Amino acid sequence: MSRFFSKKYEKLIPYTPGEQPKDQQYIKLNTNESPFPPSPKAQEMAKIEAEKLELYSDPECRDLVAAACAELGVGQDEILFTNGSDEILNFAFMAFCDEEHPAVFPDITYGFYSVFARLNGVPYTEIPLRDDFSVNADDYIGIGKNIFIANPNAPTGIALPLSDIERIVKSNPENVVVVDEAYVDFGGESAIGLIHKYDNLLVTQTFSKSRSMAGARLGFGVGASSIIRDLNTVKYSTNPYNVNRMTMAAGVGALADRDYFEQNCREIKKNRVWLTDELRRLGFSVLDSKTNFVFAAHGKVGGRELYLKLKENGILVRHFETERLKDYNRITIGSMEQMKALIDTVKKITEEKI
Ligand code: PMP
Repeated sequence: MSRFFSKKYEKLIPYTPGEQPKDQQYIKLNTNESPFPPSPKAQEMAKIEAEKLELYSDPECRDLVAAACAELGVGQDEILFTNGSDEILNFAFMAFCDEEHPAVFPDITYGFYSVFARLNGVPYTEIPLRDDFSVNADDYIGIGKNIFIANPNAPTGIALPLSDIERIVKSNPENVVVVDEAYVDFGGESAIGLIHKYDNLLVTQTFSKSRSMAGARLGFGVGASSIIRDLNTVKYSTNPYNVNRMTMAAGVGALADRDYFEQNCREIKKNRVWLTDELRRLGFSVLDSKTNFVFAAHGKVGGRELYLKLKENGILVRHFETERLKDYNRITIGSMEQMKALIDTVKKITEEKI
């Protein structure tokens, strides 16, 4: 830390992204990226836009907003695109949370919520998941704080039914409920349909997972126009050109290619079923996932040991060394070829141990 670093950030513990080692070619199953390239239409449109990079991007993202509104059934004033969904989540903390409006989220969830809370000086409470790692919706009924809930949750992969999300939103009319649907396209139920019924709901989604665009950084939030207006105030006070020209064009291309998107989601779900069955056959306990990853623990091989042995064998998974998570690893669903390579290696590792 330099002597110039602001006191307000002294205690900040930044988010640790999944490792991206360059020492060898790994099978990367550690950051929930898609194994498939972005849609050819997205690539084509981004290339054309690359020739116009001397010009600023459209701060209103009009082409992208029009395409997304048609797809999602929301109005143009009910959506805001951002630089990944991380950005809109941060905007939500900035816009709606402060000393008088604290935040609440599960103790095991996306690690960025607590980082954004601390960054913005927002007091927060973490509510423990049940022993089976599920969220107990009753814990959030009438809680009177701004709620951040990933649905499906990460790193567990478990989804709450939409009826539970609605109960939470309805019972906290004086607070904003942010439903982070980064993984919803792999089997969750979206709450987007509820935004016309409740003006305290913000639903966020991303193009990073199901649309294979993690490197482009494109996310969005939908909610009542009053909520979106507040978020725009924050956006225009930080970075009006937050979505670059190539990403915006790629987003339009990706939305136009519905077949490609649906085919990839189907493939991931199929591979998830296969991987879950294989892991269970090898003695793993695997949580029921509605995402593009599974969370799995082996009775005999410790979580960290498995993570290290897989890495030695050229396969990266995500390990969290905290008390409740340390027996587990989060494994991204990849192509069938990657899944087979993973299972072959896991077999070797677990057989050595028995
Ligand atoms: N929410 C959850 C639950 C996530 O796992 C991620 C990805 N790490 C994000 C939001 C943010 O994704 P992005 O910024 O790439 O849209």
